[in-house]
Amino acid sequence: MQKRGNTMLNLNSMLKPRKRLKRAISVGLVLSLAGSLAAGCAQLVAQVLLPAPTLDSAHLALGNPSEATAETRNENNYLIVRPQYALSYNRSKNIANWVSWQLDASWLGRLPRSPFMPDPSLPQGWYRVTPNDYTGSGFDRGHLVPAADRNARPEDSQSVFWMTNIFPQSPDNNQGPWEELESYCRTLARQGHTLYIIAGGAGEGGTARNGPRTTIGRAGNPISVPAATWKIAVVLNPGQTLEDIGTDTRVITVIMPNDMGIKDKDWRDYRESVDTIETITGYDFLAVLPDEIEEFLEAKIDSR
Ligand code: MN
Repeated sequence: MQKRGNTMLNLNSMLKPRKRLKRAISVGLVLSLAGSLAAGCAQLVAQVLLPAPTLDSAHLALGNPSEATAETRNENNYLIVRPQYALSYNRSKNIANWVSWQLDASWLGRLPRSPFMPDPSLPQGWYRVTPNDYTGSGFDRGHLVPAADRNARPEDSQSVFWMTNIFPQSPDNNQGPWEELESYCRTLARQGHTLYIIAGGAGEGGTARNGPRTTIGRAGNPISVPAATWKIAVVLNPGQTLEDIGTDTRVITVIMPNDMGIKDKDWRDYRESVDTIETITGYDFLAVLPDEIEEFLEAKIDSR
């Protein structure tokens, strides 16, 4: 029996995954578009059916799990798409709901870290979290897309230091099993795998050096501290494309408590199913896959 560190979330009592709302669009169309955006005609057809940024971004090739849109009225599920990643921002929480990115060896380099900066792309009038908001909180400025996943080109490196890609992480989570999994994903990328990764926080209330907190930051603009951090990585074998995703495709899913005392834990101790993350977050992951493949992959827990 594996030890799991997430009993706080009472995962064993989770319900069956809810019925999924599928897009009114053919899976074949989405997959062929994700594989090749060259077909201008098909692209035109699909632009009518989906928000344009979804089509333009490899980082959303497996879906937009909260149906985020780039409309300012959608302030707690606000879509930002960059060349380097896509995210759903939550204005009330002052953190992202999720960030999604494709990873292969072409993104990996040796550039030094960039400075943390407020995100200039947030709509005018919205609070822009600053690096100082984390100062003295006891929580790390935790990257969702890791700095080392985007360090081949200067503009890529800066993109992951915008504060919209940062959330409050306990040092033991961030520097322990979370970092170990990030590093393992890069190892797979260097071996020729292509990964589709999505990560975020769930719940509210974590513990760091100064004890438990539900928020950090300044009065008036609190930054939500998640209770747990989750990640889903779909791992394609070298040479495979999205069309090759099947029941034998590896999916690594974890959820870790945002607490102290886990620094020396193995990331493998926190593996769970996508179904569990869907239940906890209410999002629908892998929604562009054929239903039978989606359901199979989402029920499985990685054991490699
Ligand atoms: Mn799903």
